Amino acid sequence: MKKVLEVKDLNVFFDTYKAEVQAVRGVSFDLHEKETLAIVGESGSGKSVTSQSIMKLIPMPPGKFAGGSIKFNGEELIDKSERQMEDIRGKEISMIFQDPMTSLNPTMTVGKQIAESLIKHQNMSKAQARKRGLELLELVGIPNPEARIDQYPHEYSGGMRQRGMIAIALACNPKVLIADEPTTALDVTIQAQILDLMRDLQDKVNTSIILITHDLGVVANAAHRVAVMYGGKIIETGTVDEIFYNPTHPYTWGLLGSMPDLEGDSDEELQAIPGTPPDLADPPKGCPFAARCPYAMKVCENHMPDYFELSDTQKSACWLLDERSPKVEPPESAKV
Ligand code: SF4
Ligand code: MG
Repeated sequence: MKKVLEVKDLNVFFDTYKAEVQAVRGVSFDLHEKETLAIVGESGSGKSVTSQSIMKLIPMPPGKFAGGSIKFNGEELIDKSERQMEDIRGKEISMIFQDPMTSLNPTMTVGKQIAESLIKHQNMSKAQARKRGLELLELVGIPNPEARIDQYPHEYSGGMRQRGMIAIALACNPKVLIADEPTTALDVTIQAQILDLMRDLQDKVNTSIILITHDLGVVANAAHRVAVMYGGKIIETGTVDEIFYNPTHPYTWGLLGSMPDLEGDSDEELQAIPGTPPDLADPPKGCPFAARCPYAMKVCENHMPDYFELSDTQKSACWLLDERSPKVEPPESAKV
């Protein structure tokens, strides 16, 4: 399948007055046409910085790219000017956020906000943009679009705001939609509806999606592939089946163990991963998970493991996969 996005060896650092924080360290991944890639990790793992880098929404300074490449349809984004990025944002690559109120404009009707992007990027007339706005509200499942299009965001419920934000993000048929924790603020039923909606829309509008989440549970039905991030690095990546049924990295095991049972009928206790993520102002020399890993060996502290390729789609950065390491089975809690 065609690659829409190719991220290679991305490094993003922040200058703080105390130290240089290495938020993203050598991240590489591809996103294919019509694919949903979930980037999963705890807060501070670098997942949001990675996605904001693709939109070039990182304030620079204090942020800076320290090498690497982000190619969108073969074109390098790292070199693009702010002016050039304005043509790409919203039109080719769109973003939706956890809290719609941060990205919806409270002083403008939802219809105007949809129209704005259509008028700017697609040269539509006001009347054309309104017609398209009605279609979009219908598409994202907002009842009675004729009445809703002239309402302000505060007149929408939380779930409807999320739908409204998705309608705005999809207005120009972007090739890539980045959704940063799009359902975290919503209750479980609405969460499921929004994820269903995104999957449905993907078929209708041919968009590739990057789904950023701390919750591996939302990934199972919503994504095709998963990249697990920890300490600014991707530590394991694979198809959803590989990550759920053949996870190999102890951090992935920890995430699976801290996830409620998929069927929701298990009363086994959820295991939070003990300890805290590494300080990225002074990142560990070896495996970033070493301080929390129950299987850590001498080598882990001083040497960052390379990726071990387990299939065409799965790779994992853990010394346990080296043939010289003792054979370790995933714990029962990591079995789904
Ligand atoms: Fe644990 Fe070592 Fe694997 Fe890191 S490399 S996850 S410390 S076993
Ligand atoms: Mg975040």
